[in-house]
Amino acid sequence: MIAGPDHVEHVPELAALGFLAYTTTRAFGSMGTATNEPVRDVMARWQTVLEHLRGAGVPRLATASQVHGARVVVHRGGWDGWLRLPGADGHACEAGSATAAAVTVADCVPVFLAHPSGASALLHSGWRGTEARIVEAGIDALAAAGCRPGELVLHLGPAICGRCYEVSPDVYGRLTGRAVDRPTPVDLRSLIAAHARSRGVRTISVSALCTKCHGDRLFSHRGGDVGRQISVMAAVPAHFA
Ligand SMILES: [Zn+2]
Repeated sequence: MIAGPDHVEHVPELAALGFLAYTTTRAFGSMGTATNEPVRDVMARWQTVLEHLRGAGVPRLATASQVHGARVVVHRGGWDGWLRLPGADGHACEAGSATAAAVTVADCVPVFLAHPSGASALLHSGWRGTEARIVEAGIDALAAAGCRPGELVLHLGPAICGRCYEVSPDVYGRLTGRAVDRPTPVDLRSLIAAHARSRGVRTISVSALCTKCHGDRLFSHRGGDVGRQISVMAAVPAHFA
């Protein structure tokens, strides 16, 4: 537990496979710096995450400034500390790399991909990332590292749900290929699941949490929050030793 049971939403399906996988909550506090609170408070939370990972035998955390694209960076380990890359929305961590990844979200979908070898990928997929099919880029990055799509376990974390997320006719058309004449709700997680299935992923679970419906528990951009949660993923080295 990184701070308290209220502070993170774990992914039990992935924990059972030996992965640390969770999303922080409003109770843990914002992980973004675009708020009025002192940066030292935000950095202290990141430090808590880093120390927790280190305690689990994971000495490195990869993050990136997110640009709503489909670039997935592959990590093989060999460094120590907290990496912040420019311009990427996905991380693939090879088996044995002892590397954690984190993405920042508040309505966008955190996409967790796990392989029994200990390889993993963590992606940030809002509507632009979903249109760009970042999930397929993540699956391809893992396939290049020897992970067959049919062996992957996919989890779609807390994100805005299909009832709360209304998009313009233009965006709706770009995402679904269907024409509408008024703002229409769209379920990003079901689109991402369909993209993953088309690439051969068979095991898919979806968090019951909506960032907006469960605004008491999570930050929501559409709900008016400037705060952000992070999703974190790492293979626990002891499990794969
Ligand atoms: Zn909702």
